[in-house]
Amino acid sequence: MKSHVKALVVGGGAIGTSIAYHLARAGWDDVMLLERDELTSGSTWHAAGLLPLFNMSYATTHIHKYSVEFYKSLEAETGLNAGFSIVGNLRMAQTDARMDEYMLYASTAETAEVPYEWMTPAQIKDRWPLVRTEDLKGAIYHPTDGYINPADVTMAMAKGARQRGVLIERKWQVDGYEWTGSDWRVTVTKMVERGGNLVPSEEQQVITAEHVVTATGNHAQRTARLLGIKMPAIPVEHQFIVTEPDPELVAYRQNGGAEHPVLRDADAKWYVREERGGWILGPYERNAPARFAYGVPDSFRADLFPLDLERIEEEYMSMIHRIPSSETVGLKDDFNGPICYTPDGNPLIGPAPGLRNMWLAEGFSFGITAAGGTGHYLAQLMVEGEAEIDMASLDPKRYGSWMTTDYAVAKNEEAYEHVYILHHPDEEREAARPLRTSPAYDRQKAAGAQFGQVNGWERPNYYAPEGFDDHAARSFRRGGWWQHAVDEAKAIREGVGLIDATAFTKHLLKGPGATAFLDWFTCNKLPKIGRINLTYALTTAGTTRTEYTIVRLAEDEYYLVSAGAWTAYDSDFLMKAIEDKIPDFGWISCHDVTTQWGVFAIAGPKSRDVLNSLIRDADPATALTNKRFPWLSCREIELGMCPVRAIRVAYTGELGWELHHPIEMQNYLWDQLISAGEPHGLKLVGARAQNWLRQEKSYRAFGTELGRDATPLEADLPRFVDLSKDFHGKQAMADTGIRAKCVTLLIDGPADADPWGREALYDGDTKVGRLTSGGYSVAFGKSIGMGYVSPDLATPGKKLKVRMFDQLWDATITEDSPYDPTNATIRKDA
Ligand SMILES: Cc1cc2nc3c(=O)[nH]c(=O)nc-3n(C[C@H](O)[C@H](O)[C@H](O)COP(=O)(O)OP(=O)(O)OC[C@H]3O[C@@H](n4cnc5c(N)ncnc54)[C@H](O)[C@@H]3O)c2cc1C
Repeated sequence: MKSHVKALVVGGGAIGTSIAYHLARAGWDDVMLLERDELTSGSTWHAAGLLPLFNMSYATTHIHKYSVEFYKSLEAETGLNAGFSIVGNLRMAQTDARMDEYMLYASTAETAEVPYEWMTPAQIKDRWPLVRTEDLKGAIYHPTDGYINPADVTMAMAKGARQRGVLIERKWQVDGYEWTGSDWRVTVTKMVERGGNLVPSEEQQVITAEHVVTATGNHAQRTARLLGIKMPAIPVEHQFIVTEPDPELVAYRQNGGAEHPVLRDADAKWYVREERGGWILGPYERNAPARFAYGVPDSFRADLFPLDLERIEEEYMSMIHRIPSSETVGLKDDFNGPICYTPDGNPLIGPAPGLRNMWLAEGFSFGITAAGGTGHYLAQLMVEGEAEIDMASLDPKRYGSWMTTDYAVAKNEEAYEHVYILHHPDEEREAARPLRTSPAYDRQKAAGAQFGQVNGWERPNYYAPEGFDDHAARSFRRGGWWQHAVDEAKAIREGVGLIDATAFTKHLLKGPGATAFLDWFTCNKLPKIGRINLTYALTTAGTTRTEYTIVRLAEDEYYLVSAGAWTAYDSDFLMKAIEDKIPDFGWISCHDVTTQWGVFAIAGPKSRDVLNSLIRDADPATALTNKRFPWLSCREIELGMCPVRAIRVAYTGELGWELHHPIEMQNYLWDQLISAGEPHGLKLVGARAQNWLRQEKSYRAFGTELGRDATPLEADLPRFVDLSKDFHGKQAMADTGIRAKCVTLLIDGPADADPWGREALYDGDTKVGRLTSGGYSVAFGKSIGMGYVSPDLATPGKKLKVRMFDQLWDATITEDSPYDPTNATIRKDA
């Protein structure tokens, strides 16, 4: 046992072991891993070992892909065979909608270079005659996918880690963390066996670690308590059963039949694979309960829950339907273990909120598949400062302090149940809603709002007539909501629309150090008092960490507005940077005021007329003219009795204002705007129309075009980068160069579908990039998208192709801002 290390990894499951291995491989030579019991004694020992490459998330697809490649190389390095069987993975589709899902996924797979093939029912039957196919539409097949022995691969990674100098200590439990200001003092307790239980002994030590990574699996809630943070990682029961040998399968294999790929009947909610002549059935059934919401009891070691056969009866019967020979085969074994989940089903990987040098790798539901890639990319993040892929979608701070145990339980159970549902890109999940509502929620609901959830907030996606069923309206193509979004987008282009943007993240920053700090922290010039600027905070790698609209309220006072989905993520980064820089720049106070300010965005050629009738001013006729209220400026105004911080900017790219108002006066302001808007035909507008409109203006969005895998110059935003000043990440941004460039494309796609922003882009037959956003343009009457292509192709007029529904469709790169490129409508005077 060492008393001082550079990095301490807590937890010896697949995840912790891989992280220790990859930290050593990345060059950190002083790494120790502590495990309270035996390696693999957590969820890892009872995993089925499947390695599904299929994943709708770009970041997770990269992580899984790395794992599969990495596991292939482990035996050569360690001499240990992890039992990697590359048998392929066959995802069957019973419906056309499921085939649509696979076709959207296939385009994502192409962007990550994950190979796949299409199979007809006849082709499936030809190769695997035991599978019933007459009710199938087809399948997508991943030839490079398969399964591995989870314990063996973990032991191989442990051996590889030891070979690279990592010290692995078992039977030591981490019981306390204390940050000294420069390193962690970690209290560890020797664990001993007593009466079959694993219990703490009297023996304790304190270890000093510069960095700590927690990979504590089902113990995440205890880890969270020890660290004084919140983590929505709570396990759910997951079972799989193993059958006796199936005589027909045994005969088929004896006659030279190839091993079945891992079979996935998503519409029936299960996977099946061969196991010693029999079958393993793994269902993702309804009503699987969350467990250990407040921690794992001492008595639960490498234990299992009793099998609940009734709960998986439906899936069991459907396996028999799909593989008729399995009907007469008895059950040999069963596993019902805790599988850690998070509300969106993705793990929590990255810096812990509010803490220094504390890294989380928790909440893994596909931890065997994710282990290799997690170790690789987290090690990059820790050692180099950034990973080569954007890890934001996996960042632990995507959940704010509003998150509670009940929320995590409800959402994690839902995430489990949703593993095999149709993953419509316009899906909105129901559990734990409504939770965070702006005051106008009830009014919006009464007006027909169909809500989506962003960072826990209810936000109208679009408005529809009474009785409209959003669930039935979802599709991989143009859903039932599409026409409503078209009408809303047109209202903004031709009349006036009102959008609720209350979820925006807002920070108030002031003090003698504020100006120098922001000048260093962001890459654009700071605005003058009363003006606003769009700007970016960069990572150490020179890529985009956050996009801000900065409003300068006074010489040393700023109001920062950033994306609504990322409040805790933005706040943590900002607060830590301020803390670091106060000694250099002077005192700065910073407050997250997100929930104190509501925001309505009013936009459209008639928006000034609506506001004119509400504004109280000595000279109302001129209050909103270009002279008194120019574009990109901010004014404190009064609308009726509501004090409003109005900002003349519109994310829709039309004449408009953002109306930031005291949250407690929101309903008053809403009612005023609705009645003043009525004579002008004001229409309520949701996030979907707004997302389309901003693409017509080439406005990049954070989380899609803007992220930690591209610099602002790659996002093609040089006008927001002031190269004459020094700022954080500047040199790294310059050193990175332009690897790919952001472009806007108008697309002649299928008549019934628009891209979603995950599709691969082609130049002839060569893949040259990917879409990051997609939708429909009301201004051009066709599909639109934004994405990244090789810089040499990023020229207006260049013809490319977009893969949608397994076909290539024409697309043309446009000038930036194809709609109103001179901003004439935004700047329009009264
Ligand atoms: C039935 C079932 C089937 C599954 N099948 C698959 C599959 O086919 N494919 C797949 O990818 N995934 C599968 N999974 C999920 C997979 O098992 C997990 O995602 C994975 O094992 C998580 O690994 P981990 O390292 O995060 O956690 P764990 O394996 O649980 O490891 C965490 C470790 O941390 C230790 N620890 C906790 N607290 C402390 C502390 N304070 N000090 C020291 N040590 C500590 C624990 O003892 C434990 O060993 C399955 C899960 C179940 C339940």
